Amino acid sequence: LAIAGFAGFSGRIANLFDYARENRAGTVARYIPELARQDPDQFGLAVCSLDGQRLALGDAEQAFCLQSVVKPLNYALALALNGENQVHRHVGREPSGRRFNELALDPDNRPHNPMINSGAIMCAAMIRPSRPLADRLDLVQRFVASAAGGAACGFDEAVYRSERQTAARNLSLVKLMDEHDAFPEGTDTGAALDLYLRTCSLTLDCQGLSVGAAMLANGGVCPLTGHRVIDPRIVRNTLSLMLTCGMYDYSGEYAFSVGLPAKSGVSGGLMIVIPGIAGIALFSPRLDRQGNCVRGIEFSRRLIEDYPFHIFAGV
Ligand code: GLU
Repeated sequence: LAIAGFAGFSGRIANLFDYARENRAGTVARYIPELARQDPDQFGLAVCSLDGQRLALGDAEQAFCLQSVVKPLNYALALALNGENQVHRHVGREPSGRRFNELALDPDNRPHNPMINSGAIMCAAMIRPSRPLADRLDLVQRFVASAAGGAACGFDEAVYRSERQTAARNLSLVKLMDEHDAFPEGTDTGAALDLYLRTCSLTLDCQGLSVGAAMLANGGVCPLTGHRVIDPRIVRNTLSLMLTCGMYDYSGEYAFSVGLPAKSGVSGGLMIVIPGIAGIALFSPRLDRQGNCVRGIEFSRRLIEDYPFHIFAGV
């Protein structure tokens, strides 16, 4: 499936982008000092269709740190390295119904899912644990870059340092999981947390992120390079969890009203997967109460009014 008449589609998307830009509600994330310094009015959007057509609007080439947007990719990588059984021995796949950084485990003493902080730290723990940290980060960075079709994936040192200094909550999550023997035996929990924080500080721009979303929309094959990045089964697992858990405490509402797998992050990034059709990435640091970018939510809702992209639209 391709988007016929991409020029018309692009025009419509540009209108939706302009509508969303008018929305000045929401504020930048404050709990990570470096993110609090972001210009709230940056706004970018990029689309990559499965037949390789591209659209870039506004600050689409402004790199930003991925924060939670990296979580689905870390999960996919952990699955590729360890297999589904091993990964899910240590992390569940159920929405938590709690805040993304809540001190809570599921009834089996696992983090509820890989899209909240505890689950993402757990996934980081399962990415080549026997290797030095620098190699592990390098592996994730190369994976993110290849998911994004070879786009530049950077590392924001200032964000990383800022997060390290304000990691009390994440440290508590690690302690909680440790206390309940949630980690694989022999885990260096400090290194797992460090790797998690470092992966949150990896950067892409909307252009690159839209290609990553398109790769997921394409069953794991990058539509630009033709390179298989992820196995279909892993894509299925990843998209299922993005649909049910990808939008913080708005995940149920987003699945209901927009009906697309997506993942947001506190820096204001959002990737949206339209299975079989396209990937979309947005960047706008103005966040709502749940931590999703206000303009991304507004754009998503309008998109679904105009196009039959809701995964259950055609049934
Ligand atoms: N690094 C952030 C944290 O651990 C990620 C939060 C997010 O984007 O949801 O608090």
